[in-house]
Amino acid sequence: MLKDRFGRVVNYLRISVTDRCDFRCVYCMSEDMQFLPRAQLLTLEEIATVARAFVELGVSKIRLTGGEPLVRHNVLWLCEELGAMPGLKELVLTTNGSQLHKMAGSLKSAGVRRLNVSIDTLDAERFRELTRVGDLDTVLKGIESARAQGFERIKLNCVVLKGRNDHEILDLVEYAAAGGLDISFIEEMPLGRISEHDRARTHMSSEEIRRHIESRHALIPSTESTGGPSRYFRLAGSDSRIGFISPLSHNFCGSCNRVRLTAEGRLLLCLGNEHSLDLRRVVRAHPGDTEALKSAILAAMELKPERHHFDVASDVQILRFMSMTGG
Ligand code: SAM
Ligand code: SF4
Repeated sequence: MLKDRFGRVVNYLRISVTDRCDFRCVYCMSEDMQFLPRAQLLTLEEIATVARAFVELGVSKIRLTGGEPLVRHNVLWLCEELGAMPGLKELVLTTNGSQLHKMAGSLKSAGVRRLNVSIDTLDAERFRELTRVGDLDTVLKGIESARAQGFERIKLNCVVLKGRNDHEILDLVEYAAAGGLDISFIEEMPLGRISEHDRARTHMSSEEIRRHIESRHALIPSTESTGGPSRYFRLAGSDSRIGFISPLSHNFCGSCNRVRLTAEGRLLLCLGNEHSLDLRRVVRAHPGDTEALKSAILAAMELKPERHHFDVASDVQILRFMSMTGG
């Protein structure tokens, strides 16, 4: 079992398989975001080796994210590799949904068990405005394809920006409930410098979002926990779960069970701190070998910080964008 220096079990690895994305969401990227040179990204084989090292150390859940994981060439190969890895109990993926209409079936066959699909609005024009380039219809079609494949669970992720999409919260809840989907509302995090909007003005706390939903629907608290920043409720009269991801207003660090691998192979010990370890150097020095990686990972557990200190009101403290780390 992998543990950090505070005794917290680390059993969940989130892997950003690419920093590239076909969308440029206003809260996630600046308009002129430059992607990393290809040679700096881990190859899919290197990602698989790093993942194997983690699984050999006791990690049982992996989430593939990005950037947009489904725009990485051959990502299905990686899903199949991970899906067949002994010891890995859960392979899940977070996507913007732009490729799901083509890939949902192959992802399911490769062993991906659950999907998170990001969708912040059900209005096509607003969708284009918030993603800068995305097409709502394609994403809705993708969600339908995923539903037809019968994934164990599909969860929608919605970043709420006051004055931009907060008036759609109830519509999004009802869309999720009608399709038997779960939905989580996410507080915007101050990652990376953006100029499109002022984060202090658009911030809407999970508490406000929850009260708004409760103006129309009863929410039943659930004890379910993923060890992360989410709190879950059940929507009365439906199978849907409503989650609130509150990195700003709810400190979850005490139960944090996760680490993150960036697309360039940096192991991040905390989303809200810069502590990291260069695993690309290790995997390139020992291709295909997990022993050196495992020693490096065990040493890195000593660096995992006790907590983060996010604050929307002050200047941005973490300069990397969410697309670098995958959320
Ligand atoms: N491209 C995929 C997607 O959009 O689902 C996966 C990567 S994306 C970085 C993962 C999640 O992070 C998405 O649900 C997105 O809405 C969320 N996200 C991005 N930037 C964020 C920010 N500044 N604050 C909070 N959530 C953010
Ligand atoms: Fe791309 Fe996801 Fe970031 Fe949007 S949130 S720009 S889809 S990585």
